[in-house]
Amino acid sequence: MLDTASLIDLLAQPRKIVITTHHKPDGDAMGSSLGLYNYLIQQGHHAKVIAPTDYPQFLEWLPGNGDVIVYTENVKLSHQLIADAEMIFCLDFNALGRIDEMGEKVRESSAFKIMIDHHLEPEDFDDYRHWNINACATAQLVYTFITEVLNNKQLVNADVATCLYTGIMTDSASFRLPTTTSAVHRIAADLIDAGAVNWRIHELVYNNSTETRLRFLGHCLLNKLRVYEEYNTAIITVDKEELEKYDVITGDTEGIVNYALSISNVKLAVFAVQRKDKVKLSLRSKGEFPANDICKKYFNGGGHRNAAGGTSNGSLQEVVDQFEIILPKYKTLLIQ
Ligand code: 5GP
Ligand code: MN
Repeated sequence: MLDTASLIDLLAQPRKIVITTHHKPDGDAMGSSLGLYNYLIQQGHHAKVIAPTDYPQFLEWLPGNGDVIVYTENVKLSHQLIADAEMIFCLDFNALGRIDEMGEKVRESSAFKIMIDHHLEPEDFDDYRHWNINACATAQLVYTFITEVLNNKQLVNADVATCLYTGIMTDSASFRLPTTTSAVHRIAADLIDAGAVNWRIHELVYNNSTETRLRFLGHCLLNKLRVYEEYNTAIITVDKEELEKYDVITGDTEGIVNYALSISNVKLAVFAVQRKDKVKLSLRSKGEFPANDICKKYFNGGGHRNAAGGTSNGSLQEVVDQFEIILPKYKTLLIQ
């Protein structure tokens, strides 16, 4: 284990650093990674962000995006960078299984591993941990890592601030989830003061759809949304043919689950999509309902109380059938 003084000592010299984040990175994964990247390069570190897979186009404008390496497209170079790294920052995940094949390379590496994360039940692979499940986003923790642990608030420049604001905005569902405390708003205000143009970031992330994506959303809401009134639950399923018909690309399915949750009585919303050999599930809930509990128990997944995910090896129909068995078990929580 590293203590804070040793970590600060280590970072006092330019280091070879890899920053990585979870499979199919979202706004917080890329925002926190690039926020840290833009901080580290100011100090002369040789930092590289390696994303395990591709990520949505609506994140490609983030400062530093041009330097990101996608593991699946650059396996050899990624292995080299991981093998050479003196420090590896693991952001927005806490179990090496979340970074696919990269996980074993990171485990084998002799680099110091620093976890910055807000998910429950971290695996024990790290040497230093800045972890808090109450944080609304990993980007919030990267901010406190820079400002409180490293005491370097003056290095939060416009690029760092823009990336971290994006992470906080997306993981808090635009400052709407219960994790959005007054402290989060104060950090957001600091980030705006440091150069994050908040309205522009909202535009770039949320008003950046293609026409096909919007029509796909329309199809999901009109034809695929099923509401289980008895259980205050809404489920949307999407199969492979629909993905093809609407030319759905990475990122296009992001956020659709929130529309299902916006129905007034709905407490639990599920979006289930047929990927190559698995069904990928995204769950969202309101208030106290533990969406992560369902993902952990039944879908080999996890996450936060109000935003969780998992997978199933069954068919879409089997997933729906499974929910029809699961929902009665949660009825009391769902109807209160
Ligand atoms: P999303 O629905 O956006 O894919 O995921 C929401 C949240 O659920 C993520 O931030 C992550 O915390 C968690 N999550 C999603 N998929 C998985 C998974 O397969 N395993 C685990 N452990 N967590 C997941
Ligand atoms: Mn996150």
